[in-house]
Amino acid sequence: MDGKTVLVTGAASGMGRAHAVRLAQEGAEIIALDLPAADEGLAETAGLIAGVGGRCTVGHADVTSQDSVREAVENAIGADGQLHTVVANAGIYPSAALSWELDDADWQRPIDVNLTGVWNTVKATLPHLKSGASIVIISSVNGHKGGARVAHYSAGKHAVVGLMRTLANELGASGIRVNTVNPGSVATPMILNDEVFAKLRPDLDNPTLDDAARELGGRNLLPVPWVDAEDVSNAVLFLACDESRYVTGTQIVVDAGLTQK
Ligand code: NAD
Repeated sequence: MDGKTVLVTGAASGMGRAHAVRLAQEGAEIIALDLPAADEGLAETAGLIAGVGGRCTVGHADVTSQDSVREAVENAIGADGQLHTVVANAGIYPSAALSWELDDADWQRPIDVNLTGVWNTVKATLPHLKSGASIVIISSVNGHKGGARVAHYSAGKHAVVGLMRTLANELGASGIRVNTVNPGSVATPMILNDEVFAKLRPDLDNPTLDDAARELGGRNLLPVPWVDAEDVSNAVLFLACDESRYVTGTQIVVDAGLTQK
């Protein structure tokens, strides 16, 4: 990744941070974007990147606003600057409810961030991409299969796969590749909370992390509850670099076998 500039959205936490650090370790210069409220996390990401001898510019962008992403990109690299890889990672995991119990706002919020946010990120960064560039969109195992009480999340994560396939068609002739990475369960702040534990173990009164992990372990082919963020980052790295120069329009599922069980 030497000499390449990589933009990562949602880079203040969890997997976005892991992707930023992993790509920096391989020589990429990182533009780490997240919400203004995530400043502390962004600083931590920048510190980790400095710790591996990498270079990083941090910035604010709310992916639900195309202008916000465009402004952040231009602040970081200028109106004519070039990006080599875009990792559209920012996302939210909404409160669980049965499809017909969601109200309009419940439905719309994850669609705005997880689907429209990816489209905004692509549209704002495309003018900065040239032949050889790679767009990596973070979907999910919920972009591959449904799940209990995640209609709003799963619909958005399926939809970005459709967006990816269409973009790969549209951008192939320009030499720009587009793929998704679909992680299984990764122990990030997104799912390390009581609400998610309760969703995973509705049979228990106050389920703990261990209870949740036991349930998740039973869902995978491999005997592990979690996929490490770094394992997902390795897939992102592969798609980001030229080793995958003929890979476009596809998905890499990093899920310990969850979708195959
Ligand atoms: P996380 O909560 O640790 O990180 C998400 C980051 O996105 C946060 O820093 C947050 O501030 C940022 N973000 C949220 N809304 C934003 C917005 N409107 N604009 C800009 N940034 C915003 O979560 P994570 O687990 O690292 O998730 C990263 C991606 O991986 C998400 O797209 C998520 O859906 C996906 N994913 C997660 C899991 C998992 O098990 N954790 C599994 C499959 C897919």
